[in-house]
Amino acid sequence: MNFPFRFSISLFQTASRLFAPNPSTHFSIAHACNFTTKPYFSTSTNPSRIAMAETSIDSLKGTLAQKRASAEAQGQAVRALKASGASPSEVESAVNSLKALKVEVEALSKELNSRVSENGGGNRDDFRQGVVNALERRLFYIPSFKIYRGVAGLYDYGPPGCAVKSNVLAFWREHFVLEENMLEVDCPCVTPEVVLKASGHVDKFTDLMVKDEKTGTCYRADHLLKDFCKDKLEKDLTLPEEKAMEYKRVMATLDDLSGKELGSKLKEYGIVAPDTKNPLSDPYPFNLMFATSIGPSGLSPGYMRPETAQGIFVNFKDLYYYNGNKLPFAAAQIGQAFRNEISPRQGLLRVREFTLAEIEHFVDPDDKSHPKFKDVSNLEFFMYPRDEQKEAKPFKKLQLGDAVKKGNINNETLGYFIGRTYLFLTSLGIDKERLRFRQHMANEMAHYAADCWDAEIESSYGWIECVGIADRSAYDLRAHTEKSGVQLVAQEKFAEPREVEKLVITPSKKEVGLVFKGNQKKVIEALEAMKEAKAMEVRANLEAKGEVEFFVCTLGQSVTLTKNMVSISKEKKKEHQKVFIPSVIEPSFGIGRIIYCLFEHSFYTRPSKAGDEQCNVFRFPPLVAPIKCTVFPLIQKSEYEEVAKLISKALTRARISHKIDITGTSIGKRYARTDELGVPFAITVDSSNSVTVRERDSKDQVRVSVDEVASVVKDVTDGDSTWTDILSRYPLHSSYSSDEGVLIGDIHSKS
Ligand code: AMP
Repeated sequence: MNFPFRFSISLFQTASRLFAPNPSTHFSIAHACNFTTKPYFSTSTNPSRIAMAETSIDSLKGTLAQKRASAEAQGQAVRALKASGASPSEVESAVNSLKALKVEVEALSKELNSRVSENGGGNRDDFRQGVVNALERRLFYIPSFKIYRGVAGLYDYGPPGCAVKSNVLAFWREHFVLEENMLEVDCPCVTPEVVLKASGHVDKFTDLMVKDEKTGTCYRADHLLKDFCKDKLEKDLTLPEEKAMEYKRVMATLDDLSGKELGSKLKEYGIVAPDTKNPLSDPYPFNLMFATSIGPSGLSPGYMRPETAQGIFVNFKDLYYYNGNKLPFAAAQIGQAFRNEISPRQGLLRVREFTLAEIEHFVDPDDKSHPKFKDVSNLEFFMYPRDEQKEAKPFKKLQLGDAVKKGNINNETLGYFIGRTYLFLTSLGIDKERLRFRQHMANEMAHYAADCWDAEIESSYGWIECVGIADRSAYDLRAHTEKSGVQLVAQEKFAEPREVEKLVITPSKKEVGLVFKGNQKKVIEALEAMKEAKAMEVRANLEAKGEVEFFVCTLGQSVTLTKNMVSISKEKKKEHQKVFIPSVIEPSFGIGRIIYCLFEHSFYTRPSKAGDEQCNVFRFPPLVAPIKCTVFPLIQKSEYEEVAKLISKALTRARISHKIDITGTSIGKRYARTDELGVPFAITVDSSNSVTVRERDSKDQVRVSVDEVASVVKDVTDGDSTWTDILSRYPLHSSYSSDEGVLIGDIHSKS
């Protein structure tokens, strides 16, 4: 919700990746290679091919550098010849040599660029395409309104996608709402303007946009500039060092550029509309909220909410009361959010309607300790504190307790939610080697935020912000208090009254008015707003000299105050309670992004036994798998089908989602079909009293009695037993089909 700088897939990340080495890359490849025959993002399956390609790229680079140096020297020689008044024929022959060298430099550059893209380019795209094809074919998701050619940035979840999403949300509720006794609410998506005016969204929830001057197609200005710099840095290997540094600097400071600065950079680099090469308009702010009006009159403006958080803030008073007027407490909300993204790209990652799961944890600003912090303080995972980013150091594993103790993370409560988020994501199946927590740079954070960290997951699109965890101080409740006039505050009653020293500033309206006339109000407001140190300085000057120069920012000038205009003192008072606006710590989960990254981290391919095709598998843990188990009669035989139906009933009673497949398709094909849906267990009925249970990734099978099988599958899907436990409890069974490597003849002897 950090809207002044709302680059969710952080531009900084791209820049920092270019500046800093990425220690996790080798993990990504190694990890995926445990399972895949098609490596994840690697440049080639064959190490010697990679080595060869890299060697020839290196030698090409060397030759190019030599040729460039020769061309530069020849250029100097031409200039020297001309300056010395050499004969025209001498100059002409030197110029011809220079031209020949330039042609060679050009050809070598082209060759180098094409070698690099052959070697490295495309693999991430190929991997992504494989995942997306499987997801679309198996209806995990569907482009919305497809029969009408769809709408960019809108997607439907199909049956398995819906099941995964509902499992992720159920686990989110269990992991956060249940664990912390959070107060869950469910507020409308349609929100009156006044609420979003108070929160700042009406004025500031914008991205800078440019238009193709001829076709009117819109683009995000910062994306065009970022793409240009990234392209140059990645593809133009002949880029001079100073230019490369300049592009890196532009990328690292994109967030800071005003519309005007962004516009002049686009012009300076000659950036045009990517699709048509037409000129672009100057950048201008575009508000991302979908506007609507509430009721038929059209007089009551509203918006589709861009986040769920505001619904919680405006209910603070009632929720605080419901909680027995006690802090800290947290409220939570799961719901749709709407952002009219300018040019949505990156598939499910940047969409126009998405599900957010948000927590607002209200806490005393003077005490941000957390009683359960010790439960997570020993966790160690990748963190990328601001200072490490500034120095272009790689991110590394830190212990959470240390990061809070050293002040990398602002406070225990923020640290607690970072730790809980790490546990949440890794339990879902996010690879911990491709997960990092990155602290916002000062220029990324809203001015009021005390600290902010993003959980970023590495995918084929790069590092993606999936969860934002921010200490937003008292900003939101203060803004709604001011706009609504309703005090969104908490009180803490003291056991014993406390003596406190209070600053008392009493301006004399009469004296100020006599001197400053129409500016009386502004001067008085400035006096009342003085902080203690300033007030003491003014008092000391008035006492010593009788007058003082005092700057009134709303007037933009200093005025001369005299002693009779204001009295400043410190008074001791007894207080029975403290009244304050709570701070809020906000973890905000983009559910769609988490699910997409989970799809990528779970996907692998393996060859069929015959070796003639690749089978897709989603390695979902049972917790998120859309269906936990399949039931297959081995062959079409009524006796087996009856047993399958009995097992299905027992699974339903045990609340295990499952699917019966009684088609006559070969068992290997049926396994492959459900592996592609990520179903972790398959029960195959091959007799009337015992069946086999197959685990998806190892393809190991055990033999279990018909009566027991539902409870065995329940145990292992609920996490009460592991598959290793099951292997030690039940006899191993060799598999059936040629795909699975065992003879069909074996089946009949058992039936
Ligand atoms: P923000 O309020 O901008 O910090 O966003 C909160 C979370 O919502 C982010 O961490 C993302 O996971 C998610 N998110 C933001 N914008 C989009 C979008 N256009 N499409 C999908 N998810 C998004």
